[in-house]
Amino acid sequence: MESIGAIQSANLSSDLGQTMPVLVAEDNPVFQSMLRSMLTKWGYDARITKNGLEAWEAMQAADAPRLAVLDWMMPYMDGVEVCRRIRTAAHEPYVYVLLLTARTESQDLVEGMEAGADDYLTKPFNAQELRVRLRAGRRILDLQQQLMEAREALRVQATHDALTGLLNRGRVVEILFAEIARSARERRPLAVLMVDLDHFKQINDTHGHQAGDAVLREAARRMQAVTRHYDSPGRYGGEEFLIVLPGCGARDGYVQAERIREAFAREPFAAGGESMAVTCSIGVSSSDACADGEACRLIREADEALYDAKNRGRNRVARFVSDQPSAESLALTKLAKFSEA
Ligand code: GH3
Ligand code: MG
Ligand code: MG
Ligand code: MG
Repeated sequence: MESIGAIQSANLSSDLGQTMPVLVAEDNPVFQSMLRSMLTKWGYDARITKNGLEAWEAMQAADAPRLAVLDWMMPYMDGVEVCRRIRTAAHEPYVYVLLLTARTESQDLVEGMEAGADDYLTKPFNAQELRVRLRAGRRILDLQQQLMEAREALRVQATHDALTGLLNRGRVVEILFAEIARSARERRPLAVLMVDLDHFKQINDTHGHQAGDAVLREAARRMQAVTRHYDSPGRYGGEEFLIVLPGCGARDGYVQAERIREAFAREPFAAGGESMAVTCSIGVSSSDACADGEACRLIREADEALYDAKNRGRNRVARFVSDQPSAESLALTKLAKFSEA
């Protein structure tokens, strides 16, 4: 007795597990109310439309059902056309389409399946048959959901650093390239920060590698807390971070770097039950008129500025200063010569 009850409730829960919305397109009022009552009884949220056009419009909503039962013959737009449109729009997540055809109608089923229908039922149909076919559709949709989640998890894994959750080196450099191209197009400046923790080796040596890891995580958290949402901080190497700041010139880049330096120095880090002072040094480089291929130069110059910040005592921000005269100073020299003449 108990086992039968268990099987029955398992069956029931596979239908009723979640109220899944189902789009129904049916022009015949008798079939409409039949489908509504059956679907509702099986635990679906039946969304009834009266023709293909209404159905297609309902499919445009952000929360449109992923399961659709479409009658073939309908006014304005038939089920096959709705199906064809759904497939052309290449909906993601996938929409599972079950086509209903009347025995008296002589359409070629091949046409329906070629339009992208997943399954079909011939009217008048057996209620239990519709029920199990819908369940098969849900299984497909569940699998597709799992695949999408796995793909998303892989994407995150491939672009993020496992320890800090920040972007990894490959991804942050890729973003730098893309942002340089965009800055060139939009004639906007761009700044790059190279952040390096001070005497981090000592933290590892004194408190252990795990405490060092906790410090890296906290460093990432503090950096993220003070960066704007369109900035991209990434872990460039062991205790080095690269931050891309679109729209920032040298001055704004410096201000942003100071904010980060301050976020570290303001209060001690807590790691492994201990409290410790952690500081960072930051090198800033920038470009006012980005040209393609500047990524390497910007990284190199931020690195040089970082080296300067370390040499000058750490816990500070240094800007890259070019040995070359700037365009602005060149223009001033030319102007001076001109007025001398
Ligand atoms: P400086 O102020 O000149 O930057 O000195 P530093 O000690 O920070 O620099 P150094 O390059 O000598 O040491 C960096 C250390 O970072 C060495 C390395 O063991 C440690 N490190 C790199 N990656 C990790 C990590 O993922 N976890 C931990 N705990 N330590 C790491
Ligand atoms: Mg019809
Ligand atoms: Mg360091
Ligand atoms: Mg370093």
